[in-house]
Amino acid sequence: MMAASALGASHTIDAGTYRVSIAAGLRLSYAMRIVAAAPAHHYALISDSNVAPLHAGPLSATLAEHGETSLHVVPAGEGTKSRESWAALTDALLARGCGRDTTVVALGGGMIGDLAGFVAATYMRGIPVVQCPTSLLAMIDASVGGKTGVDTPAGKNLVGAFHPPAAVLADVELLATLPAEHRRAGLAEAVKHGVVADAHYFDLLRTAGPAVLGADTDAVLGVVTRSVEIKAEIVTADSREQGLRKILNFGHTLGHAIEHASGYEMLHGECVAIGMVLEARLAERMGLAESGTSEAIVELLRVVGLPVARPARFGADELLRATRLDKKAQAGVVEYALPAAVGRMAGDGMRWGIAVPDALAREVLG
Ligand code: NAD
Repeated sequence: MMAASALGASHTIDAGTYRVSIAAGLRLSYAMRIVAAAPAHHYALISDSNVAPLHAGPLSATLAEHGETSLHVVPAGEGTKSRESWAALTDALLARGCGRDTTVVALGGGMIGDLAGFVAATYMRGIPVVQCPTSLLAMIDASVGGKTGVDTPAGKNLVGAFHPPAAVLADVELLATLPAEHRRAGLAEAVKHGVVADAHYFDLLRTAGPAVLGADTDAVLGVVTRSVEIKAEIVTADSREQGLRKILNFGHTLGHAIEHASGYEMLHGECVAIGMVLEARLAERMGLAESGTSEAIVELLRVVGLPVARPARFGADELLRATRLDKKAQAGVVEYALPAAVGRMAGDGMRWGIAVPDALAREVLG
């Protein structure tokens, strides 16, 4: 465990019904904040086999001063985000006699956030969850917005629920133990936030991105905070993805298809990076995006060392088939969220999902 620093600059962002707190050293007050946001008789801490040995001990011990506490550790990796894990976790809570006066605490990356969030969404028809993200991707994106769920053999996130957390607590110092490739993958969602909503932030990432990779705490704090502000504003306006929230799916239609085709061997952020490039090219081809949009995205992704091309081992037809399973398909037609330029998405203010014929998508897949 790292030495705890004093709480430095801290940021609190309103995400509708809950708040996102971000600071270096915040973990020292996690238990107090969890108890304040979602007081319970039992605190069920859910974590994975990489994160728990590093970070669960102190939190579990301090939570135990406030109520009955249990720690549930599942194997690390996207393969654990499954109905089987959901069943095992809910059975474990039932075996312990946990009632509706239980709060789930999700301590981990986006995999744990989605899985533990889905346990909370469904256990006894819904109990509170506090999200304590430990990966960059989870801090800047997955922990905010209330989407929870599991993957199935047919595709990603196909079984799930909207279940907003009672609070999100992000201690950027926890990223000190995050492997470099996951830090890099997390930046893909920051690039996405720049493309969908803030050209200035996109430009800033040319210097802030490499600083985040170098573990510069101020840069990490700045990027996490700006990304959470962008995501919170969008999900507060449209919590159930009826309209505006669809813009956050930029890069994810083809990105999810690649992730699925790779058998979840490739990291989510890497797949989203490639998906953004391909989908921006698609938008240019359809005359929706300013020319140069995809090139600007490629350039920034290269600066932070993320992949920009479809791996040759996945065929275009295989990927197109996978997009049909995506939740974004409407009446069998696949909808994409496409940019108009860096910082602005294509849409008419009401509808942000754009139906794309397979033939056009095949052209950008090459
Ligand atoms: P992850 O949770 O699998 O974490 C990546 C790896 O880092 C894992 O091996 C994990 O054990 C390890 N790890 C995490 N924090 C660590 C730390 N502090 N120290 C050491 N190791 C650490 O994956 P992820 O990249 O965080 O998230 C990807 C998941 O998030 C996907 O399932 C994706 O679908 C989901 N997601 C959800 C949303 C949403 O809105 N709910 C948004 C984006 C992504």
